[in-house]
Order: sequence, then C-alpha cells, then structure tokens
Amino acid sequence: MTNHHRKTIAAIGSGLLGAMLCYRAPAADAGVAHPAAPAVDPAVLARIREAAMNSDWAFRHLTDLADGIGARLSGSPQLVSAVIQVAELMRSLGAQVALQPVKVPHWVRGEEQAELVNFPGGPAGATQRLQLTALGGSSATPAKGLTARVIVVNDFDELKARSQEVRGNIVLFESRFDQQLADNGYASQAYQQAGMYRFNGPSAAAALGAAAALVRSIGGANFRLPHTGLTRWKDGQAPIPAAALATEDADLITRLAASGPVTMKLILTPQTLPDADSNNVIADWPGRERPAEYVVVSGHLDSWDLATGATDDGVGVIGAAAVIEVMRQLNLHPRRTIRFVGWTNEENGGRGNQAYFDSVSKTIDTQAAAIESDDGAGRSLGVGAAVTNDSLTMLQPVLRALAPIGATVLSHHDDELGSDIAPLQEAGVPGFAPLVDSRHYFDYHHTAADTLDKVDPLSFKTQVATMAVLAYYLAELPEPLPRFKISP
Ligand SMILES: [Zn+2]
Repeated sequence: MTNHHRKTIAAIGSGLLGAMLCYRAPAADAGVAHPAAPAVDPAVLARIREAAMNSDWAFRHLTDLADGIGARLSGSPQLVSAVIQVAELMRSLGAQVALQPVKVPHWVRGEEQAELVNFPGGPAGATQRLQLTALGGSSATPAKGLTARVIVVNDFDELKARSQEVRGNIVLFESRFDQQLADNGYASQAYQQAGMYRFNGPSAAAALGAAAALVRSIGGANFRLPHTGLTRWKDGQAPIPAAALATEDADLITRLAASGPVTMKLILTPQTLPDADSNNVIADWPGRERPAEYVVVSGHLDSWDLATGATDDGVGVIGAAAVIEVMRQLNLHPRRTIRFVGWTNEENGGRGNQAYFDSVSKTIDTQAAAIESDDGAGRSLGVGAAVTNDSLTMLQPVLRALAPIGATVLSHHDDELGSDIAPLQEAGVPGFAPLVDSRHYFDYHHTAADTLDKVDPLSFKTQVATMAVLAYYLAELPEPLPRFKISP
C-alpha cells in the first residue's frame, strides 16, 4: 500500500517559497551562519551518504526477495519464507534479531472472470470479456457466477440518490485517479481521493443490498491492468463480492450505461481461511550510549499476490535493512539503537504494526523516532517529517548532507508518514519517510506489473542514502527530537 498522508508543507529558513512551501538546503558555501560545533559530525554524514551510493547490496537483496521469493501476501508460504530470509540477512550483518509473533488474516484469491452479457446495441448472444481482479476481503459469488445489472455511480452522494436501484444489482464506483495531482508531487493525495471508494465503496453498496461491488482501478497508467487492494467491511457486516475493473473497462461500462441497461456476469471465488502465523522481523544495531532508546527504520515484508512486490514494498523493507548494512560497513554505532523493523501484514490488516505498538506502548518514550519507506522506488527528493516546527531547524544538517544527491527538500507533515508507523506517531513519536518521486508509483501499484524491472538501481540508492543519513542523525543527536502527536 502506501502511506495516506495529507501533506502540509511548511518552509523554514528565510520564508515561504511560493505555493510549494519547500525548503531547499543551502549549499555548504552559501555563507549561512552555522552553530560552532555541530551536534553530529557532517563528515560522518557524508561518509554514510557515499557508502550508500556506492553499494549495490540493497539491489542484490531486493532481487533475492522479489525474484527469489515472489509475491508475499499474508498467510502465504512465501511470506513465511520472506520472514526467514530477511531475519537471516540481518543476522549476517551482526544485528540482534527477534521475530515478533503476529496472527495475520489469510485471504486467498480464486477464479476471477467477468463479461458483459447484455448491453445497448449488443447483438443477441454477444458478450464482452472484462479485465478485473478481486479486492482483498471480497467474498465469493456462486461458483457459476452471478448475473445482474450494473449501476454506475460517481461518488457516495450519487449512490445515496440512487439507493432504490441498488438492491440485487452490481454497483460500479467510477472514481478517478487524478494523475495530474500525482505528476505534481501529490500522488498520495490522488491515491487517497480515489482510494476511499475502494476502501469504503463495497461496504456502502452492501449496506444497500447490492449483489456485488466494483471499483475503477486506482492508477495512472492505462494498460488495461486491474489494481487490487484492500476493501473494508463494517463490524459484523457480511462481505459481498468486490473487485477492481481495469480503467478501460470501467470507461466502457460507463459509456454503455449512458444509453441503456448493462448486464454483467461475474465470477469471483476468493476464500477467507483461518488466521495464519507470521512475524515482524526486528533487528537492533545497538547504540553506544543509549542502547535502550530506538530509532525505528522500516518497510513492510508482505505484498499483494499479483506480482513480486518489488516496489511495494520490497524497496522499503530492503532499503531499511540496508541502513544497518551501511552502519556495519562503516563500523558506526550512534548513541541510540537503530532498530530495523520488517512489518508483516501491512497490506490487508495492519496486524504487524499493531503487535509492535502493543509491545512498546508502555515504554513509548524509548521510541525516539520512526522512519517508514513505502512510497515506491522513485528517486529520493529529501525527507518527509511529522515533527514540531522547532525540529525543522534541527533537521537542516540531514538535508545538507544529502545535497550532493539532490535530496534537499524538507516536507513538513502533520499526519502519518506510513501506515505502520502511524500508531507510534499517534503516541507522539516523531515520524519520517524518504520523500520520493512517486508520480509513476501508481502506474504499477498493486498490479501484476509490480516487478523488479520497475526499480531503478540509482534511484533506490538515493533512498537508502536518505534513510541511512537520517537514521544515523536521529540516533546520534545528543537529545531526541521533541515529541509530536498526530491525530488518528
Ligand atoms: Zn506498501
């Protein structure tokens, strides 16, 4: 998945820089006055950046995970293998590894087929095959399928206005992904706008008696690929069959439905099995002075089942692991412990982050900061930070250290920077993410095309460099950054 943050970007330094409100770190020779003795040695930060940029460790181990194991949905044997593989990898670096037990949902995809069997202008007996994929949490149709009329709605207001037509029919939510937002650096916002129909549309349709619900796929590249993802049901609500249509097929149905009734035959046979055993992988790189204070650096181990999850979230979890590799290579032990977490079950339950939060909630002050990478494989543009205003000044040395690779933007947020670190952030832990060029992330997100070739090795290195410099800096600061609570 991705984080769901709504950006509120603030500027620091001399003033607001127009609408983007970003801060660009000054060049080292810009004549800006710096404190006499930096809290963290800039030369060390530069060595960390260079070590990350000169290493192919992360890409090699991403290849092992994505190609060598493949798709890693919760409950699958592949996710079990990924836990073992990443735990071994962290042990091989000399980190202290613990496997945190987590019970995870176990939903498995079945057959998925759909065709239009009656549509305006269609010759008798003609059908049109559609491209679709079940949403996580979907229930099954009868094995032979169900046949019903499709009711196309643009939004929840229209669903309400046409609620009398819904019972026994298939509702299609025609909610569009705004690629222009994504092109301008607001991919998360575009995802959130369209995503609320995937998350909540099927439940709303079920409440009105719909036989099934479809959503337009959330993505910006139209190669007739359906994008899966989680849909949510209300407590006690019986799920209905729910799927995402390729955008082209959503358009087709919308055009046809404008001229008359459209009838679809739909077969979906997913199953929900009993919860399965899984683990968060926790690997500590002990701090030299305050080993019981932690800077979490993380990504999620699980993926959807349609592809190998190279970008969602192979780059995040292996990129976070690579932070420890950089520390090992340079033999650096900052003041605090850097704690790698490979989260389980980010995609369809969030049980991993809940288990971790439960384990630290009584000692939450030991969690000094939390970083999550889950925004795809694009180049790092800088750092996203959910911190107090005063902390922004404190973070300037990180941006200065990253200036040679162009990762100079500090983006200030007041909400979650990753769904797995959100509970920590809600409890006051300062939250961070690499700020990633994600304009093309949703081309492949949750599709059969999320494969290793989508990862540019150089861009991936910039993400590792960003996380490594940031994690070291946060772990080395004499005092941790002030607490900053986001609202749930
Ligand atoms: Zn993800």
